Amino acid sequence: LLPILLHQFLYRKTTPTTLPSFLLIGPSGAGKTAFLTLTERKAVAQTHTSTAPLAVEVLLPEGHTPQSSHYRSPGDPAYERSRRFQLHDTPGHGKLRHFATTQLANPTSVRGIIFVVDAASVAEEAGLNETAEYLHDVLLALQKRYTGATSSKGPKEIPVLVAANKMDLFTALPPHLVAQQLEKAISEVRKSRAKGLKDSGPALGGEDDSLDEEREWLGEGGEGSFEFAQMEEVGTTVTVQGGNVIGGDGVDVTSWYEWIAAQL
Ligand code: GDP
Repeated sequence: LLPILLHQFLYRKTTPTTLPSFLLIGPSGAGKTAFLTLTERKAVAQTHTSTAPLAVEVLLPEGHTPQSSHYRSPGDPAYERSRRFQLHDTPGHGKLRHFATTQLANPTSVRGIIFVVDAASVAEEAGLNETAEYLHDVLLALQKRYTGATSSKGPKEIPVLVAANKMDLFTALPPHLVAQQLEKAISEVRKSRAKGLKDSGPALGGEDDSLDEEREWLGEGGEGSFEFAQMEEVGTTVTVQGGNVIGGDGVDVTSWYEWIAAQL
């Protein structure tokens, strides 16, 4: 289901009048809703779009400058406009269908995907595997979108922020370890998926089979390990940044807003 919905989200026609948008995605409990709420509260102006209850229109908080406005000064209407964006929440797999329907009815332009991770839960095998599988599928959907594009220019790049959340918890892995562990676990997911395909595929052999397998293989070919850097070949830069939306010695999501600012 996920690949289909992502596909629908990514292939929506974009019009210049719509706001730049970011998709919040990730296992439930990672902190997506908490981040959305935080961003909404901080925003100077906020409106709920009635047609799409899972999308909120927000402003980039003070102290962050949209990439496109580096040479503009605050107060300039173009500067203020460039701070506006939409966040789309996907609260749990069950609601993904509803989410996709709303998206289709109200197309916006996708600037990036924020994949929220519970950095404490990925310290344990079960949490790590669940997260890695989900991220693998998201990245594979992005890869397919890129390699399947028909236009000669290639599709617009869609960067991914892996937002390593809950850094306030002492059991949380630091961001560089979150990245390492996810890369390792995604390598395993990729291997077992390839094996699954081979085992379930028709035993006819031939070119089509190997082509299909290639399309299902995330990142570069070969048996080596998966690295996020491999995604750059298919138009996706993956960045891992730590933060915490709640508690501890205070909220810290500065690096996430910086990443958003760089895409605006
Ligand atoms: P979602 O399912 O991804 O939308 O996750 P939620 O936003 O509902 O958060 C799940 C739980 O994690 C909630 O109890 C939050 O209060 C908690 N949570 C979210 N962010 C943080 C954080 O940075 N630190 C800690 N300690 N807890 C957090």
